[in-house]
Amino acid sequence: MTKVYNFSAGPAVLPEDVLKQAQQELLDWHGSGMSVMEMSHRGKEFIGIAEKAEADLRELLAIPANYKVLFLQGGATAQFAMVPMNLLRGKKKADYIHTGEWSKKAIKEAQKFCTVNIAASSESTKFTTIPPRGEWKLDPDAAYVHYCGNETIGGVEFFSIPDTGNVPLVSDMSSTFLSRPLDVAKFGLIYAGAQKNFGPSGLAVAIVREDLIGQVLPGTPSMFDYKIHADNGSMYNTPPTYAWYIAGLVFEWLKKKGGLKAMAEINQRKAKKLYDYIDGSGGFYKNPVAVSCRSWMNVPFTLREETLDEEFLKGAKGAKLLQLKGHRSVGGMRASIYNAMSEAGVDALISYMKDFAKSKG
Ligand SMILES: *Cc1c(COP(=O)(O)O)cnc(C)c1O
Repeated sequence: MTKVYNFSAGPAVLPEDVLKQAQQELLDWHGSGMSVMEMSHRGKEFIGIAEKAEADLRELLAIPANYKVLFLQGGATAQFAMVPMNLLRGKKKADYIHTGEWSKKAIKEAQKFCTVNIAASSESTKFTTIPPRGEWKLDPDAAYVHYCGNETIGGVEFFSIPDTGNVPLVSDMSSTFLSRPLDVAKFGLIYAGAQKNFGPSGLAVAIVREDLIGQVLPGTPSMFDYKIHADNGSMYNTPPTYAWYIAGLVFEWLKKKGGLKAMAEINQRKAKKLYDYIDGSGGFYKNPVAVSCRSWMNVPFTLREETLDEEFLKGAKGAKLLQLKGHRSVGGMRASIYNAMSEAGVDALISYMKDFAKSKG
């Protein structure tokens, strides 16, 4: 097998142990004679898989009992609509924090359903900072406050949870979910698409405080109603069963690795190594993000001259370091170093970056 390091932002690298287990169980899951893909979602085998996945996720994040955990379709993008459809609860306004591309997409979608107040924006720094909480202009009548916990494209991450008083806090955690412990009780709703840090695309997880659901906008389709999903154990219709199963294997793997505190230590160390190398490269490589909000998961960087990009990527591919090209909207490079990216992978990247810089004098 060709061993590569995959730095894709998503769909992204999954733990090799998980893929091997899935391979072993592919044709015959635990003596059932069937693949998980072929099972009825209402059969006792799949119900067991689904319940175990939820229980493990609850344990990993210490999710309080008054929160529902939903396994949904439509990725994080469907959540951009589901959030206002479910959480406006008769109100007409919502607060959004604009810190980059993904929060912008959430804002655009919410504007279809309500008046969006941009309570803070880092546009003036080209989205390389996080506006300090003290400068946010929150609306006391807002139904909720939405922010993106980690801007996957810009590489900007929140390292503290903003206090919004009694107004429910909502966060798109897609690319930081399960990278470190999180105090779920501080949120009204957390959502994340699976393909960044815990599974195959097409699945999203939403963790929502139960008193906030059940008051959807009139006309909301059933598939967009959290209450309907909650009342049906995320099986109102056929859920993405195989993706749910793989996510469950990733949750088991995380528990075996020591849980989210252990992951946080490794993730912080991996990120620090890479940023330290970039900062110490004498300007050959640059990361534009303010030090206090540099993402542990997505590290964008540019080369001294843009004309070197193609050669850098070609050489990286030769060194089995894949998918380092930056997002088309910002250019340059981006190394996504999620939970499943080993420290050895980050070391290999740094070693290649050193050699490349040296070869250019
Ligand atoms: C990838 C991503 C999304 C979109 O996810 P889809 O599954 O493609 O809908 C939304 N928000 C963030 C922060 C992301 O990284």
